Amino acid sequence: MVKLYDVLLQDIRFQEGLNACMNCGVCTAICPASEFYKYDPRQICDLVQSKDEEKIEELLKSDTIWYCGQCMSCKTRCPRGNVPGLIIMVLRKVSQELGYFTESEKGRQQFAIKRVIGENILNTGYCAHVNILDPKMHPEQGPIWKWYKDNIQDVTDRLGANYNRLGPGALRKIPEENLAEIRKIYEVTGGMDFYNKIEKYSKEKAKDLKMSFDEQGINNEYFYHVYLENKNNHQK
Ligand code: SF4
Ligand code: SF4
Repeated sequence: MVKLYDVLLQDIRFQEGLNACMNCGVCTAICPASEFYKYDPRQICDLVQSKDEEKIEELLKSDTIWYCGQCMSCKTRCPRGNVPGLIIMVLRKVSQELGYFTESEKGRQQFAIKRVIGENILNTGYCAHVNILDPKMHPEQGPIWKWYKDNIQDVTDRLGANYNRLGPGALRKIPEENLAEIRKIYEVTGGMDFYNKIEKYSKEKAKDLKMSFDEQGINNEYFYHVYLENKNNHQK
């Protein structure tokens, strides 16, 4: 059986990110995520470095690896040239590749991100597109948000944007040939396979939880569960 540590080691980011940790804790001192969350990059480096397979698996299934904000402040300070932020990137990737991400609340949110931001990129060329934002999902915006959506062409014209039209300008329509190019990049670089794995493991989890799961879109029980679930036990 392939060891998890060896899987991590195959990734160039891991090779670059972990030389030899001496457990000094400077990364934790500078890390903004550890200020708020139950999160400590020093402990993560120490754990991974121990090569303890059981503990690495536990880490891959935990909320812990999803707390990092990827700010890379740790990269600038480590006296050993380690980059905990890069190690976290690889841990996340392996967690997604092996399906461990569905075992934690924060990990399961990968499905929501894929269905929203991930698909937005492929379908519109934007991470977040106003056409897809549903006022029902953003009650914090108040009634103005619905009004804005109902009057979007008029409002964006007055602001000098080029909403939904070809040519330059904010909110412009991305031509179909450019979208096809984006999809091609995803196919060639493995991005599409990666998305498919998130779908596959999330579907299995939905089945375990006896929740409805649609092949597309966000109007299904599992999506809302993932999107809204908050055990509120993440902060220090
Ligand atoms: S700063 Fe570097 S050496 Fe110190 S605990 Fe963090 S990763 Fe290890
Ligand atoms: S990249 Fe992650 S681990 Fe490093 S300082 Fe930023 S939040 Fe902390």
